[in-house]
Amino acid sequence: PQEQVLSVQLVPFDSSRKLLLSRDITQLDRVQTVHRDFIANVSHELRTPLTVVGGFIETMIDMPDTDARTRGQHLQLMYDQTQRMQRLVDDLLTLSRLESGQQMREEEVDVPQLMRLLAAEAEGLSQGRHVVTIGKLDSIRLIGNHDELHSAFGNLVSNAIRYTPNGGEITLSWNLSFEHGLFSVKDSGIGISPEHVPRLTERFYRVDRGRSRSTGGTGLGLAIVKHIIQRHQAQLQVQSKSGEGSEFSVKFPPQRLINN
Ligand code: ADP
Repeated sequence: PQEQVLSVQLVPFDSSRKLLLSRDITQLDRVQTVHRDFIANVSHELRTPLTVVGGFIETMIDMPDTDARTRGQHLQLMYDQTQRMQRLVDDLLTLSRLESGQQMREEEVDVPQLMRLLAAEAEGLSQGRHVVTIGKLDSIRLIGNHDELHSAFGNLVSNAIRYTPNGGEITLSWNLSFEHGLFSVKDSGIGISPEHVPRLTERFYRVDRGRSRSTGGTGLGLAIVKHIIQRHQAQLQVQSKSGEGSEFSVKFPPQRLINN
């Protein structure tokens, strides 16, 4: 009789538990793989600039009499690499803060004013190499976090500049569309072929690694944008055609808008 009781209790319980357990383990495996890949990516991204800086320092130690011009060039190259590491560490810290789920301070954001700031920053970044314009600009304000929105929109704008060859156009806009607030950055740049679009917000995902690095990208920009947008209950939309340009838009729900 005892055996019977055991079998009654164990068989259904055990089989469902096994299923649950195997599902948990698969999930855990996936999380661990993502984590491992992330560490490997960060290490790789830091290793390259460190190797370059280390190499130049070694040269300077071995050849202390190098002429001033060459020395100046080496120092400039080392400085560029430290800047690259600085950008990466800054982005990592931002991402980690966003992922920790810390609550966001909400305030009234004057989006038209932010748009003018973004356009001025874009002109600074572009240094006259692109035509930057503000298209539609409605006087709608938004409930959200100013600094986070500045960072998210700024990332989209700097991408537009980085992936648009000289002479191209960048247009920013902010307007009401079907009761939603629509922010957009349109560029006439290199565009993105459709198969890449679903993965763009993954950490360190790049369509062209060399191009991203040479233009100062960390590969974390859109991952940061995704988090900030989610915290504002907004949606990121991408329209792009390879060779013709891209438009990145952020759509905010009506409850976030102050329309007067
Ligand atoms: P990165 O620092 O490499 O720019 P992001 O996360 O900001 O990293 O973007 C991921 C990738 O998406 C980029 O490496 C680039 O391939 C692609 N991308 C982003 N914005 C644009 C754009 N406006 N035009 C073309 N490609 C873009």
